[in-house]
Amino acid sequence: MNSTDRNGIALGADFLRHETATAASDTEGYMEHDAAVYRTLLESTRAIPWKIDWATMEFAYIGPQIETLLGWAPSSWKTVQDWAARMHPEDRDKVVNFCVAQSQAGTDHEADYRALTSAGEYVWLRDVVHVVRNEAGEVHALVGFMFDISERKKTEERLAALQRELEALSFKDGLTGVGNRREFDAVLQREWSAAQRHGAPLSLAMVDIDFFKSYNDYYGHVQGDACLKRVAGVLNDAVRPGDFVGRFGGEEFVLILPNTGAEAARQVVERCRSQLCAEELAHERSPFRQTVTASFGVGTVIPAQSDDPVAFVNLVDTQLYLAKDNGRDCIAAVNRTA
Ligand code: GH3
Ligand code: MG
Ligand code: MG
Repeated sequence: MNSTDRNGIALGADFLRHETATAASDTEGYMEHDAAVYRTLLESTRAIPWKIDWATMEFAYIGPQIETLLGWAPSSWKTVQDWAARMHPEDRDKVVNFCVAQSQAGTDHEADYRALTSAGEYVWLRDVVHVVRNEAGEVHALVGFMFDISERKKTEERLAALQRELEALSFKDGLTGVGNRREFDAVLQREWSAAQRHGAPLSLAMVDIDFFKSYNDYYGHVQGDACLKRVAGVLNDAVRPGDFVGRFGGEEFVLILPNTGAEAARQVVERCRSQLCAEELAHERSPFRQTVTASFGVGTVIPAQSDDPVAFVNLVDTQLYLAKDNGRDCIAAVNRTA
């Protein structure tokens, strides 16, 4: 604290005279003693007191603590322009306009903003402002405290980041890391509406691992889980950017292919099928070269206003059963755009 700043102390006395004028009316000595106590109190708190004269819009006082916090000497805080100029440009207009409007209305208020330090960095401050009126009820001065809220802001930012992280996690399947059922529902809704708006084709594929019950029976559930992760990885690698891969549940996955016609969808899904075969994940109980395979149901639609996405998902599901009936490790597709 720079308590030797002459300007600060002189202004401080003025500030305190106003505050203590009615309380210390007995004797001059008592008043001076009282003022000194208040000044010590004001200047030893971490909050930074200040006073602005309403008529001139000049600082009548600012606590010497301001120099410790921001590096600017109290004597350099002359007018409200100095205050506004030392505010982050992104905060300035909003905060200045708000504070001016509240002050003109005679309303106590507070505002958070980033204040510039003499080192060129920014510190989050909360300014709590009280409007002082004269006996005629007119605004006479503004007094307030600036609080350093940078720690609180850091905590808030950390919390917001955590919340974003949690929100992202709530859309992911815990085992495989691909989208979960919740995200599938949200993406399908979004892409369905977009396809309706643009009259664009939308393709959907349901994927089901073949003979997975016997995989679990033979290798155990832990390896079964590892296998699900591998399959999810293969699907993720085989689709294009902008396509969605999700786990529908159990050993079933789902692909949403926006802006994708029937032929392109078949190509993407065939790539998924063949790349899974190429992985050659051992499956002793599978008749397909003792490797893990999957069956695929595919559907393509240009959704009309009257079409229902749930009915479309069911239609694609029937294609999956068809692929199973057709012997597994294959694709069955339906095209509703023709
Ligand atoms: P099909 O070729 O007809 O699809 O036969 P399938 O054995 O794959 O189908 P079924 O529906 O009979 O069995 C699916 C199995 O998937 C049953 C269950 O043990 C296994 N499964 C479902 N979810 C999980 C999981 O999260 N982890 C593991 N390890 N296995 C799972
Ligand atoms: Mg299944
Ligand atoms: Mg299966």
